[in-house]
Amino acid sequence: MGRLGPRPDGTIPFSVEFNPPRDAANEARLWRAAREFERMHPAFVSMTYGAGGSTRDRTARVTGQLARETTLLTVAHLTAVGHSVAELRSIMGTYADSGIRNLLVLRGDPPGDPLGEWQRHPEGLEYAEELVRLVRGLGDFHVGVASFPQGHHRSPDLDHDTAHLCAKLRAGAEYSITQMFFDVDDYLRLRDRVIACDPIEGAKPIIPELMPITSLRTVQRAEELSGRPLPTRLRERLERAGGADPDANRAAVREVGIEIATEIAQRLIAEGAPCLHFITLNFAKATSEVLTNLGYTVTAAPVGA
Ligand SMILES: Cc1cc2nc3c(=O)[nH]c(=O)nc-3n(C[C@H](O)[C@H](O)[C@H](O)COP(=O)(O)OP(=O)(O)OC[C@H]3O[C@@H](n4cnc5c(N)ncnc54)[C@H](O)[C@@H]3O)c2cc1C
Repeated sequence: MGRLGPRPDGTIPFSVEFNPPRDAANEARLWRAAREFERMHPAFVSMTYGAGGSTRDRTARVTGQLARETTLLTVAHLTAVGHSVAELRSIMGTYADSGIRNLLVLRGDPPGDPLGEWQRHPEGLEYAEELVRLVRGLGDFHVGVASFPQGHHRSPDLDHDTAHLCAKLRAGAEYSITQMFFDVDDYLRLRDRVIACDPIEGAKPIIPELMPITSLRTVQRAEELSGRPLPTRLRERLERAGGADPDANRAAVREVGIEIATEIAQRLIAEGAPCLHFITLNFAKATSEVLTNLGYTVTAAPVGA
């Protein structure tokens, strides 16, 4: 990942995550967000990978378009779930043909139920580490992997979790992006654990993932993505802003959600995070507001845009 150095305005790099669009309206929204972010110069944008057949085709098409038709450095997520090794090779070939050289390599979760029993494809791979080796063996890809500040839900303990993260880094991953979290101390403890496990590999960038909460409904999404309930103190802050009728006080809830994300980002910057990775749900506005609070600037839109 070549764009993690400091930015000309002194801010640390940031990056954004998109999801494969579900329909035409969602795709239009994603493109509006992508054009908006282009003006803020993210280090990269990433596109998550869904396991279902039609989503898969749409993901490949839109990810390729992002790489070819924008100035954005595009990172394609790739999961092992439901794929034979031959299929994984073919998907990588498709990405390479679009000029994509950056992959976030993951095992993926069982489709339909992330907590369900993991089934390896009969001709596929068991762990992300094996996929890292496969990708690196195929040639010229930069590889990132997932890390988990509070441990992955299938890891029996944090030592096991850290050991396997280090194994992915040793297999050739150049950085990791964390699962979303709300407690910065969890991120700092992960960083300490990885360095203690392997001082060389553990020094590779650990990019924290965050998501601004924009409504009480996004709380549920945030909890699913972080795999943990929202800390009580944050929930209380949002609920206080929502008052007796949250539907009537949406703007106040949103304001507090942006404030919370800004505070988390400020602490991460102070603690030396290498980059801030935002889950956007294909919207630009909330992330741009957090970035503006942090002092990031937006380049004027080109004439006619
Ligand atoms: C930043 C980020 C982006 C994501 N993007 C997507 C996406 O686009 N699409 C999607 O479907 N999912 C995505 N996920 C979810 C991810 O696929 C799941 O969390 C999945 O359950 C774990 O993936 P992994 O790559 O960490 O797996 P692995 O690294 O394979 O780890 C899975 C579990 O196995 C353990 N383990 C690893 N190696 C071994 C070993 N050799 N022996 C014993 N145990 C081992 C690990 O400790 C862990 O508990 C993302 C997660 C993150 C954090």
